[in-house]
Parts: sequence; C-alpha cells; structure tokens
Amino acid sequence: MDIIHSVDTMHALALGWRARGKKVGFVPTMGYLHRGHTTLIELMRRRCEILVVSIYVNPLQFAPTEDLTRYPRDPEGDARKCEAAGADILFMPENLYPPDFRTTVNIAHLTTRWEGAARPTHFQGVATVVCRLFGLVQPTVAMFGEKDFQQFTVLKSMARDLAMGIEIVPGPLVRDHDGLALSSRNVYLSPEQRQRALSLHRALFAMRDSPSRSGAERVALGRGMVDCDELDYLQIVDPDTLDPVEVVDRPLRAIATARFGRTRLLDNVALGPA
Ligand code: AMP
Repeated sequence: MDIIHSVDTMHALALGWRARGKKVGFVPTMGYLHRGHTTLIELMRRRCEILVVSIYVNPLQFAPTEDLTRYPRDPEGDARKCEAAGADILFMPENLYPPDFRTTVNIAHLTTRWEGAARPTHFQGVATVVCRLFGLVQPTVAMFGEKDFQQFTVLKSMARDLAMGIEIVPGPLVRDHDGLALSSRNVYLSPEQRQRALSLHRALFAMRDSPSRSGAERVALGRGMVDCDELDYLQIVDPDTLDPVEVVDRPLRAIATARFGRTRLLDNVALGPA
C-alpha cells in the first residue's frame, strides 16, 4: 500500500488509471478507523481492481461550535488497518483545498431535514469534499455506509443529478458486540452514557419488530424507549426522499439521532410491513 499526501500526485495517478480503463474503488473516511470502516474497505476490495481509501477530517462539514479540533485521530493505526483490509492507496491529503477554492455543492430538499436541520451547513460541506475527492481519485465505484443513512441518500442523489458516472454503493451498518452502532465518536461516551446509548438501537429494533403496529405507534414506541439527554429526531422515512411516512406499506427506514451528554449518536434500521 502506498500513502499519498499530495493532491497533484493523487490526481495524476488517477488520470493514468482512467486512461488504462481500470476499475477504481473508493472509500472516503475521516479516519480513526473501526470495524465499520474496515468492513467497507474489505467489501470494496472485491468490487474493483484498484482500491483507494481517503482519510481527511473535512473542516467544511463542521460548524464552528462542533468538534473539529478534538475529532479523534490515529494516522499510524489507520494506515495499518487500511493495508490489512486490502487498500492499494491511502490518500491523506494535505492542503486539499487550494487557497482560491470557490465552489460549494448544494443538494436541495434532502439536506434540509434531520441531520440538516441540526447542522445547517453540514451536507454542503460533505457534498463539496466528496465532489473534490471524486475529481481527484476518479473512482468507478464509491461506497458509503448506511450508518449515515441521510448522507448516503444525499450523495447517491448528487452522483445521479450531476451524471458523474460513479456507482454509489451502500455499505452495511456495523455494530459493536452489544449492538451500539460503531462510530469514531463513541470514544467520547462515559461508561454510563454508553450504557444508556444502547437504548437507541433497542428502540429502533423494537420498531422494526412490531409489524402489527401502525407507523405512528411504532414511532411512539421507539421514542418512549430511548434513554437519552435529548432526542433530536426519531422518524420513519422514505429511503429515497427522506420524507416522513405514516403507513408502513413498503421497505422504509427508521432513523434517529440522540444526544448522550454532548455526544450526538446516529442510528437507523430498515423496516417494512409484516
Ligand atoms: P466517517 O469516517 O465517520 O466519515 O465515515 C466514513 C465512512 O464509513 C462513511 O461512509 C460512513 O457511513 C461509514 N461508517 C461509519 N461508521 C460505520 C459503521 N458503524 N458501519 C458501517 N459504515 C460506517
């Protein structure tokens, strides 16, 4: 595995692959890799000839009040994990944005609700960085985890709207042994908060496993079960439009975000009719 820091080196390499018709797989991350990330890398390994993983903690997707500077980092450990999972290139850009960078990418509708309501500039930052990384890496196929379900939906829509010619593939949500969705932010939880955080997936699973109840009853059931400091949202939504749905008559998604202390945790589960 090669580690590349220079944006120009990465781009030149990628243009060479493209000229030779290589199938390039891409898994973008912010690092501090856990089994959720390495699962995506391993799954992508089987779908491509050249596998690129990026690590970049993107300032554009953090609001001034958020945890950019204290976001956890472990570059050496991450490099070992990427290599073990089968990456050919680890792209850790320095100076990703040139000083005269002027572009922002905005996806309407999908980005205004849920995570977008709590973090108004977040998805613009995500879409902009992913667009720039796509230009530099020139992937044929890119994988994003269903852990960040709204992010996956937004980026799939972006790639389609802009006819990027990049296949956007979902990666399965990977959980810890006790069911907590793996997240780089789990390290912030105190033991007591982590214990209460287990109520999040339990609530979502209970909603999934109550097919005889109506959508509204399932939402009420879930909300009643989450033992958090603040429930930002818990809803059943259409997986493509992210609009709330009342009647569970097709495959849908229950999505939730809750705060435990200062830490916001996201989780979601697929659910459908009986
Ligand atoms: P992040 O480093 O948090 O930006 O995540 C990088 C990629 O890994 C995104 O596509 C995430 O959705 C995905 N990811 C993060 N946590 C998990 C998880 N527990 N299971 C599956 N994918 C995940």
